[in-house]
Amino acid sequence: MDVEFLEPQSLQDAIAMAKARGSAARFIAGGTDLIIQARKSGTWPATVINLQRLTTLGEIKVSDRNYSFGSLVTHRQIESDARFAGGLQALQESACVIGGHQVRNVATVGGNICNASPAADMVPILLCLNAEVSLAGPNGSRVIPLAEFTQGPRKTQRASDEVMTEIIFSAPARKFASAFLKGGRRRAMEISIVAMAGVVSASADGKLTDVRLAMGAAGPKAIRLADAEKFLEGKTPSKAVLEEVGRLAAAAATPIDDVRASASFRRHLAAVYARRVVEISWNRISEVRNDRSAA
Ligand SMILES: Cc1cc2nc3c(=O)[nH]c(=O)nc-3n(C[C@H](O)[C@H](O)[C@H](O)COP(=O)(O)OP(=O)(O)OC[C@H]3O[C@@H](n4cnc5c(N)ncnc54)[C@H](O)[C@@H]3O)c2cc1C
Repeated sequence: MDVEFLEPQSLQDAIAMAKARGSAARFIAGGTDLIIQARKSGTWPATVINLQRLTTLGEIKVSDRNYSFGSLVTHRQIESDARFAGGLQALQESACVIGGHQVRNVATVGGNICNASPAADMVPILLCLNAEVSLAGPNGSRVIPLAEFTQGPRKTQRASDEVMTEIIFSAPARKFASAFLKGGRRRAMEISIVAMAGVVSASADGKLTDVRLAMGAAGPKAIRLADAEKFLEGKTPSKAVLEEVGRLAAAAATPIDDVRASASFRRHLAAVYARRVVEISWNRISEVRNDRSAA
């Protein structure tokens, strides 16, 4: 089948091209999901609109506590950016287990989100950071919380002529640390069986506060673990506390049985990873230097 391949030089051109072609057109960033899926299914989009010339979408911007990833930022850029080695290290821990080096060099954060796989590895940590996504379309731009953007497997709020331009978030105001764990048969080159991200802060009296936990691959979309977060508020992570966090995480999972793992194993992993993510990030708090609690 002939595929029309377009290379817009501006965001406005990309949107106009997509609008003119309707749902027969697909944007392509790194192509590591789109091409594989088209090859597997044997169904190619009538038009592919390449976003790679929109170089401003490849920028990471940091000011004070505010962060913006252009949608074309690659996993490799995040993995190798020293600004994420401290409290936000879960971003690097997520990025560095996506595929192998070749995939990470071209695969983008925007593609990971827009593809809407329940196992997209960047999503849990971005949910913990209360990330929002910016979409530009024929009627202008809009910003949506990531938690609302993804609606289920391969389902998002994005219209076919909207380009995801940015992923925006702020770092927590208090001293904080983060962690990410991925369960697969191998550490990389393997879709997650369960993925868990956590961001925790410390209160002035040395208790957990502003706890954020998110789980991927254990349901139709990645979710925040609201019950576990609430339970942890004001506590310190003792054995009993962590046991309960694990129980709450397993209870929140709605996993499927598939070739990679049974639903019951996924629930078990959810419990283990929730405990570990809280413990690891709590232990990291004393090491990171991001205390803005006085601000
Ligand atoms: C060998 C291999 C291993 C992998 N391992 C992992 C893994 O461990 N974890 C993981 O999470 N993923 C993994 N993936 C999946 C993939 O690499 C990631 O999801 C990647 O981030 C997708 O980004 P991309 O730029 O390649 O997306 P593309 O394939 O270019 O696009 C994906 C989808 O998003 C749409 N899209 C892309 N960018 C935009 C935009 N800016 N605006 C609007 N729509 C857009 C496209 O139309 C398409 O529907 C793997 C893939 C391969 C091939």
